Amino acid sequence: MKSRGTQAAFLKALRNLPAALIRGRWYVLSCTTVLVMLGFLSAQAPSETITSDPPTSDLVFRGNARLREIALTFDDGPVPEDIEPILRILKEEGVSATFFVVGDRVKEFPHLARQIIEEGHEIGNHSMSHPRLVTLANEGIVEELSECEDAILEATGIETLKLFRPPGLRCDDRVLRIAQKKGYITVHGDITANDYRGSSGGNIEELVTRKIRPGCIVLLHMIPETAEALPEIIRHAKESGYRFVTIPEMMSRMARPVTVEETRIRPTF
Ligand SMILES: [Zn+2]
Repeated sequence: MKSRGTQAAFLKALRNLPAALIRGRWYVLSCTTVLVMLGFLSAQAPSETITSDPPTSDLVFRGNARLREIALTFDDGPVPEDIEPILRILKEEGVSATFFVVGDRVKEFPHLARQIIEEGHEIGNHSMSHPRLVTLANEGIVEELSECEDAILEATGIETLKLFRPPGLRCDDRVLRIAQKKGYITVHGDITANDYRGSSGGNIEELVTRKIRPGCIVLLHMIPETAEALPEIIRHAKESGYRFVTIPEMMSRMARPVTVEETRIRPTF
C-alpha cells in the first residue's frame, strides 16, 4: 500500500511526542503553564531533545531552534511542468520535503501526488480551490478541507492526513479551530522567499540562504524560479552543516509539539 511509507514515517515521528500530549483531545495551556513547563523541560532534558522556542499554541511556525535542520515546504501544486524539476532536484540531492497541495490540482494530476509520496516526501492539505478561507462560512471551510483530503486519499491512499497550510497563510481563530477539529496541525513557516511575486531565481536563492537558521521552515512555491534557486539553496545549507527534514520529523523534536488527537494517528492498516 502506497500510503504505508508516509503513515509509517508519520507514526514514527508522532511516537516520539511526549506521551502526555497525546490524550485524545486538544490541550489548551495558559502561557504561564507553558513557560513553566518549558523551563522545567529545558532544565531536565538533554540539550538535543527539549530545546525549542516556546510553541505558539496551535500553529507550527518553526522547529527546534537548537538543531541544524531545515524543512523545505512547497505550496500550490502539483502541476507537471512546475513540480517535476523540483522533485528531480530533491531526488538528486537526497533531500526530503513537504508539499502542501491544492485538491483541484491533485484531481487533475493524481500521479504527481503519488509521486510525491513514492519519493519519500510528505504531503499536506492546502485546500481544494485555494480560496481566502477567512471569507468563507464555516461550512465552506470544512468543505475546502474535506474535498482536498478526499482528492489526496483517492490519489494516494493516505487517510491520516495531518498537515494543513491555509492558502496565503490567511488564518484566523475560526479557520484554525475548524482545522483542529478535523485533526489537522496548521503549519506556517518562518522563512518566506516571496517566490510568488515573480522574483528571479537569484533573488529567491539570496533571500533564503541569508535567512536560513536552525529549525527553520522555509515556505516556497512550486514555480520555475524556485526550481532554479533550489540547487544553490540546498548546497549552501549542506555546506553550512544543515540537514533536511520533513515537517513531521521536525515536529518530533520540538519541545512541546502541537498536540494531536489520538484517533487520527492510529494506523489504518
Ligand atoms: Zn498557496
